[in-house]
Amino acid sequence: MVSPVPGLAVGGAQEVTLGVMGGGQLGRMFVHAAQQMGFFTAVLDPDANSPAGRVSHHHIQTAYTDPEGLARLAQVSAAVTTEFENVPSQALAELAKTRWVSPAASAVAIAQDRAAEKAHFVKCSADNGVTVAPYALIESAAQLAAVPENLLPGILKTTRMGYDGKGQVRVANQAELAAAWTGLNNVSCVLEKMLPLALECSVIVARGADGQCVNLPVQRNLHRGGILAVTEVYEGNVPAALAERAVTAAKSIANGLQYVGVLCVEFFVLDESHPAAAGLGGLVVNEMAPRPHNSGHYSMDACDVSQFDLQVRTLAGLPLTQPRQHSPAIMLNLLGDIWPEKMESDPIFSKVLALPGVHLHLYGKAKASKGRKMGHLNITGATVEQVRATALQAAQILGIEAF
Ligand code: ATP
Ligand code: MG
Repeated sequence: MVSPVPGLAVGGAQEVTLGVMGGGQLGRMFVHAAQQMGFFTAVLDPDANSPAGRVSHHHIQTAYTDPEGLARLAQVSAAVTTEFENVPSQALAELAKTRWVSPAASAVAIAQDRAAEKAHFVKCSADNGVTVAPYALIESAAQLAAVPENLLPGILKTTRMGYDGKGQVRVANQAELAAAWTGLNNVSCVLEKMLPLALECSVIVARGADGQCVNLPVQRNLHRGGILAVTEVYEGNVPAALAERAVTAAKSIANGLQYVGVLCVEFFVLDESHPAAAGLGGLVVNEMAPRPHNSGHYSMDACDVSQFDLQVRTLAGLPLTQPRQHSPAIMLNLLGDIWPEKMESDPIFSKVLALPGVHLHLYGKAKASKGRKMGHLNITGATVEQVRATALQAAQILGIEAF
């Protein structure tokens, strides 16, 4: 086991390179944050046009499991992180033989598997009092037949490789459940009880190798079609007592994994007037992402330390400080759906940028398609009312549904 990097030199005469597995937008924003602190960067991604590869000092263009590519990444990098949870955990384990890797392959492997993830949440719930949605593991016809009636209606989710609502089917009864499992090729799944949601929220924590753990304020999230659409972060976005419980739970989940790096934990706040919420305590943990998260993008413009700064600090063994949000914020995702046919000259963004406190982030993706995350807008301002008004105006200009 390679030891943590002891406070990597920043901006000195020495070239110090931080590596990242994956070249998507999260990798790109990590690269920008690392470079701001004087680091060189290396990205491993097979795509010649990957958003992060295009802005990095080194771009190793091989498959994630290619031994030569991994050897090259290890050779140039002082430490390596990941930007997506479906990076083969063996690849991280291979890198960890010679380089400090955070988060660890073992933690990423748990986040890749809904069943293992839920088992971890349940274990932590003994300490933090926040449990999971009632669920059953379905890996065999016998388990399918034994599903208790009270889990229906429910959502059948593949245990592996799901994201943005993919690999999920809503089912009302046993017959639909059986058909849905067949439709998913009988792969390993979990069936979750459909819960009445009052709202959804998430917490981003960063934990250092020394166990110090800091957090961003609780994010309130609106999903549309299984994809994050809007994140709102300001005083009162989530009832204070629930927010406090969510932060405590997220930290205990990170501690329980001996986690090093940035971790996002997603929660459901339940509508307790509904009978299906009975006995669950009002707050349920949904899933985690072993990396910065879309719901934390507002921190780039609204906090004194962003989630990507935290990722760099945890990876490089630099001090963590508790981030402070200095402005209320709303983040709007810019999906390919709203993209004009011709991307070169885009008059729409100039209209949006004429509004006060609008920060445009585009990921440099050449092709827009439905549901594809192309960029985001962070809207900041002096007051919540002002931020909301501007965000709604921006949404209207761009053809994003009001929230
Ligand atoms: P991500 O892109 O966040 O990884 P995902 O594809 O892994 O998403 P989930 O987070 O499991 O999917 O679910 C997507 C959305 O579906 C949730 O944000 C929520 O709106 C809804 N949802 C999921 N599970 C439940 C549930 N048990 N009850 C009610 N709604 C649910
Ligand atoms: Mg989710």
